[in-house]
Amino acid sequence: MKNLVYVIMYHYVRDLEHSRYPRIKGLDVDFFRQQIEFLKQNFTVITMEELICACNGRYELPEKAVLLTFDDGYLDHYMFVFPVLKAQNLQGSFFISAKTLKEHVLLDVNKIHYILASTKMKDLLPSVLERMDYYRGSEYDYPDNNMLFDKYAAKNRFDDKETIFVKRMLQTVLPQPVRSMICKDLFQQYVGVLEENMASELYLTPDQTRLMKNEGMYIGLHGYSHCWLGHMPEKEMQADISLALDVMSEYVDRKNWVMNYPYGSYNESLLKYISSCGCKLGLTTQVKAADLSECSRLTIPRLDTNDFPPVSENYKCRGEIL
Ligand SMILES: [Zn+2]
Repeated sequence: MKNLVYVIMYHYVRDLEHSRYPRIKGLDVDFFRQQIEFLKQNFTVITMEELICACNGRYELPEKAVLLTFDDGYLDHYMFVFPVLKAQNLQGSFFISAKTLKEHVLLDVNKIHYILASTKMKDLLPSVLERMDYYRGSEYDYPDNNMLFDKYAAKNRFDDKETIFVKRMLQTVLPQPVRSMICKDLFQQYVGVLEENMASELYLTPDQTRLMKNEGMYIGLHGYSHCWLGHMPEKEMQADISLALDVMSEYVDRKNWVMNYPYGSYNESLLKYISSCGCKLGLTTQVKAADLSECSRLTIPRLDTNDFPPVSENYKCRGEIL
């Protein structure tokens, strides 16, 4: 089967045990090195340019093809990922939320990760619910806590239902100003670090991004503010993409770029819009091997790093390559 490719998704990659936040959900750098070894021995790592050509019928995928994708533009990727890939002569594709490059501020998505890594759910959940009550009814309105919990607290394969509830409330469900206020507040209470300090040690800088691109890495779009784009009013969604394109234009070809949907969130009008703006491929978080003969090029599924050794062998049930 030559139409199949495993697109692997990575987020944090660091020396977790010796880091300040060992509970952050990421891949340990030793596991990363072992995984790259495993992939080199069992798969062929392709480049994004090859995948784009394969989608256009101008390149034949090798047997057991994999593509490595890294989300969110973390400094981890420069410190730990890039040297390993460079030494092995492999390409990674890095997707950066443009706001982190342009404004050097800490995104809510990352505040939530650090809040979760710094507290216990038995303390966090009541804090979130209490703040939801506090802001409800004045300027902002949204359903009561029980109704929201029943609707959104559903565990997925990586998080329990309480964690998913907290994430969804703070990522997308509550009105944007309320989410931001609660994230800021909880970050100060539980993490207690200046946001600008955290931002400067968390994200890639323009210089690092430039250097990685010059050394053969692929840079793509991950929106501007890391929003659930599929839930946004059309005008706001378009503004987020167009701002991201402006900031990223040094690193991406505006006529031929790749989108990675934050949270895997997209809808038909987003697909239409990015297509009209020169987007050639879109990466989702749907979990399976990508069969190019059946999936749309704007909704390519991916697997997680945790689906591969040394963490697990889940990839074997998610495609038909082997
Ligand atoms: Zn992301």
